Amino acid sequence: MIPISKPLLGDEEKKMVLEVLESGNLAQGDVVKQFEEEFASFCGVKYAVAVNSGTAALHSAIHALGIGKGDEVITVPFTFAASANPIIMEGAKPVFVDVKPNYFNIDVDKIEEKITNKTKAILYVDLYGQPANYDKIAKIAKKHKLFVIEDACQAHGAKIGDRFAGSFGDIACFSFYATKNMACGEGGMITTNNEEYAELCKRFRHHGQSEKTRYEYVDLGYNYRLTNVLAAIGLAQLRKLPGFTKKRIANANKLSKGLEGLPGITVPKLLPGAKHVFHQYTIICDNKIIKRDELLKYLRSKGIGAGIYYPKPLHLHPHFAKLGYKEGDFPVSEMLAKSVLSLPIHPSLSDSDINLIIDTIKEFYEVATK
Ligand SMILES: *Cc1c(COP(=O)(O)O)cnc(C)c1O
Repeated sequence: MIPISKPLLGDEEKKMVLEVLESGNLAQGDVVKQFEEEFASFCGVKYAVAVNSGTAALHSAIHALGIGKGDEVITVPFTFAASANPIIMEGAKPVFVDVKPNYFNIDVDKIEEKITNKTKAILYVDLYGQPANYDKIAKIAKKHKLFVIEDACQAHGAKIGDRFAGSFGDIACFSFYATKNMACGEGGMITTNNEEYAELCKRFRHHGQSEKTRYEYVDLGYNYRLTNVLAAIGLAQLRKLPGFTKKRIANANKLSKGLEGLPGITVPKLLPGAKHVFHQYTIICDNKIIKRDELLKYLRSKGIGAGIYYPKPLHLHPHFAKLGYKEGDFPVSEMLAKSVLSLPIHPSLSDSDINLIIDTIKEFYEVATK
């Protein structure tokens, strides 16, 4: 079976974890601090704050910007639940805007019609590892005096021009969940150039206690701390990330070369000037010539672990439908949920794995059109 994702852990991770175990300092400490410093420098920002998940990072970011009860935050319904739930955790309302069909990211032309006097921020997602069109988002945010939050949980190392994901907007968030482009198992990071936001995130991860004055509880906080053990894995992974990314992009190019022009499917489109880091390599099936669910079944029967991200847009789940959304509200997201298929793209694929994926899809096309 070719899995849809596979963390690549080697001697570097083992060595660094062992050092932490031997030091006896398991909880948040020096290794976390070093991970933060190297991650901030990698993204080209002044501050990085480590937490124990991408969800915790987003929750902390929303808290740091002072978003709360009665506020609205614009985001997309075609994403993982963790993009929108942290908005609700702080008592605010996620206001969905549909995505663009070929780039999977927020449709910037539909943002302004959703802005009200309650809107405080735009929380956009770099879905599948492709940066969203930040320039246009920033222009709208500036005009309406909104904060910008970048959900870069799938976009470690992605770029627009020479700027890295995590350096856009007021504050950005990453995840190091086991399937992400760099992984700790669980873990997250907040990146920002704003010292106050970084301090607020540090306080929030530590029961509202400033790290400068112990046992002084200024505000409500949580236990969102990362451990030295996981930070050791994170550091080793961060140093290997450029190599992982190169391999993902090379794999994507090979898949696109092999699949381009095959009737019934559309290969990923690249935003001009952006570096897509292919957290997922996602094709769109037309559901006429190539039926998505049948192709998925066929690939799995041949040992290829394809996946659907995401089978149902957020607004159609009971939890978010409660906010007043219904079927038909976001037609592009609804269409994509029925048409997208992600193929294995991780750095440990061999050329023969990639050829097998291409050949199996061509084989399916032959069978389906016979
Ligand atoms: C993974 C992910 C998150 C949340 O990360 P966790 O570490 O699982 O909490 C948030 N947003 C997106 C787009 C993600 O892919």
